[in-house]
Amino acid sequence: MNSMPRFLCDEMLGRLCRYLRAAGYDTLLANGGRSDAELLRQCREEGRYFLTQDQLVQEHKAAHGVALLLPQGDLDHLAAALGTHFGLDWLSHSFTRCLEDNTSLLAADAAALARAPADALRPDEPLCHCPACGRIYWRGSHYKRMRAKLETWQLARREASAPPVTAV
Ligand SMILES: [Zn+2]
Repeated sequence: MNSMPRFLCDEMLGRLCRYLRAAGYDTLLANGGRSDAELLRQCREEGRYFLTQDQLVQEHKAAHGVALLLPQGDLDHLAAALGTHFGLDWLSHSFTRCLEDNTSLLAADAAALARAPADALRPDEPLCHCPACGRIYWRGSHYKRMRAKLETWQLARREASAPPVTAV
């Protein structure tokens, strides 16, 4: 998994951030109030790509080689652009990270299982939990909705019509 690209999304890209985490990509979300210069420095230090739709990023010298300017459009559009640019695999590592804080999930231990709702406990579907925030993840309706979207994006990877991502 070491060769998987890592990302930092600007604060407007919260939904994309969650879906990148759902696909297993190490992705941070900028919280408000931090300057682009600061965010770009963090990306450089941590080997992340800075994802934004803000054209102004191009004015930063520090953006070169770090920032990627995504096209305007809805979530599907952004996913197609980014997926094509990096050849992202939306499924192979899916649901291995906490959607809220990006931490790698662990198999649920006894303490986590004790907190899980009864309808989450199915013998054929392992539960995971986040060691950072304690959230428990199971394959409920939320999982199925996100999974369906990832599957759609995976299939669409073969189409050559994706909008371009601009390397800054
Ligand atoms: Zn968490």
